[in-house]
Amino acid sequence: VAKIDYPEPILELIAQLKRLPGIGPRSAERIAIWLLGSQSAAAVQLSAALATAVDAVTTCQECGFFSTRGNPCVICAAPGRDASVVCVVEQATDVLPLERTGAFKGHYHTLRGRISPLENIGPEDLRLEHLYGRIRRGGIREVILAVGSDVEGEATANYIAEALRAMKVAVSRIAQGLPAGGGLESADELTLFRALQGRRTL
Ligand SMILES: [Zn+2]
Repeated sequence: VAKIDYPEPILELIAQLKRLPGIGPRSAERIAIWLLGSQSAAAVQLSAALATAVDAVTTCQECGFFSTRGNPCVICAAPGRDASVVCVVEQATDVLPLERTGAFKGHYHTLRGRISPLENIGPEDLRLEHLYGRIRRGGIREVILAVGSDVEGEATANYIAEALRAMKVAVSRIAQGLPAGGGLESADELTLFRALQGRRTL
């Protein structure tokens, strides 16, 4: 006897929703049914917003923050920001918590990861060559390392500080006091503000 289930398009929708972070099978089913129910306008809007975002959003060629296709990000494009100071972060999502502190008016560089021997991530997997290139082009006088304060973050900061030693650029590290094992995303504004203000030269 054939098992009775939802029609194939619904099963496919549930399968796609299940792939999203934090969405289990029960939630996927509930969301799919909700989307296909009386709020169908919401489903069409969601689908349009998703298609637009996927098409339009990319990462800034220079710093790696989010931008729209063909354009530098709002930070790199902003006049009046200090391009001579570059804050190095692990992920693009670390930029906004730093921006919210209001304590930093320079530019950024996103590594897209950090050195982690356990996860087989080495320096060559990070956007480091691009950072060296930016420094070699000139105009950068200070690099602030705002990577996490856990073991991997520490290893990443030490590696970059060592690599930049031969280049004519000051290297500093934001002060300790960030949540243990956490990225910048989980740090509150005041902690981040103090961490930026209290940065120490490496
Ligand atoms: Zn940018």
